Amino acid sequence: YSKERGRDQARFYSRAMGEAVALRLELERDLRGALAAGEFELHYQPKIRSSDGKVAGFEALLRWNRGGRGLVSPAHFIALAEQLGLLVQIGMWVVEEACRQMAAWRAQGLPQLPVAVNLSPSQLASPALVEQVAQAMARHGIAADGLEMEVTESMMMEDPEQAIAILHTLRRQGVKLSIDDFGTGYSSMAYLKRLPVDTLKLDRQFVTYVASDTRDADICAGMIALAHKLGLSVVAEGVETEEQRAALAARECDLFQGYFFSRPLPADQATSFIRDRS
Ligand code: C2E
Ligand code: MG
Ligand code: MG
Ligand code: MG
Repeated sequence: YSKERGRDQARFYSRAMGEAVALRLELERDLRGALAAGEFELHYQPKIRSSDGKVAGFEALLRWNRGGRGLVSPAHFIALAEQLGLLVQIGMWVVEEACRQMAAWRAQGLPQLPVAVNLSPSQLASPALVEQVAQAMARHGIAADGLEMEVTESMMMEDPEQAIAILHTLRRQGVKLSIDDFGTGYSSMAYLKRLPVDTLKLDRQFVTYVASDTRDADICAGMIALAHKLGLSVVAEGVETEEQRAALAARECDLFQGYFFSRPLPADQATSFIRDRS
């Protein structure tokens, strides 16, 4: 009896594994074709100025409309795209699309707000990035300080010297740089010293309890004070409540981002947001 049961179980597991492998291959195949199929879009999450509550810019976040079946979130495909070597090309599409959108806002006579794009490790290992970014900006007539880029500390691990050199070149071209998810990496302070950044983005894990846990509040206050000493501005990520906003404002956080103000918005809704809030 138990031998038979074991055989059934083995059959069950191998079928389940077979299905998982098939799903994964299907995902890979779809992802490889997604760029050519025009299935990517950008959503734009506002960054709100603490001083006057107005929109100061946006972060562009990638969405994949997989085969018209609805939007897939980056958590489900960014890592795979990177593994498959697709993220350099997809990342250039993101830069191009963000520049195109900024030009569209300008053409509609709206205030010129900077848009930040997220970089991937492979992009920071690609010397062609600098030239391609410059070309995209020129093609759409984007001013030097119109485009921002967000990098994480963990992106520096592969080849830090190369990555830092690329970031310096981008910065010299006028691109603004932020350290994303600040405080969650391995050697934040070392990179703070060496990276030519303008902004720190306080990771959501510190923001979540800023109004309820004095340790988190002290950590936020300390990181904000340090950033200001270094001449950097601070964006708090993942602000979801008025209490969090107030606690961060009391600690002189410069900018807020989070569901309390707005979710990432499709381009047309971001356009309305600019009209209403700038
Ligand atoms: P990230 O750059 O740290 O972006 C912030 C993430 O937090 C976004 O998730 C955003 O939708 C979410 N978020 C914003 N406000 C709140 C809030 O109040 N509460 C909560 N719970 N979440 C909030 P999303 O869009 O799913 O992106 C996840 C990550 O995927 C990003 O983290 C970024 O690392 C990566 N990513 C997104 N777009 C791109 C891209 O174009 N290129 C690359 N390389 N990575 C990207
Ligand atoms: Mg980001
Ligand atoms: Mg972030
Ligand atoms: Mg984050």
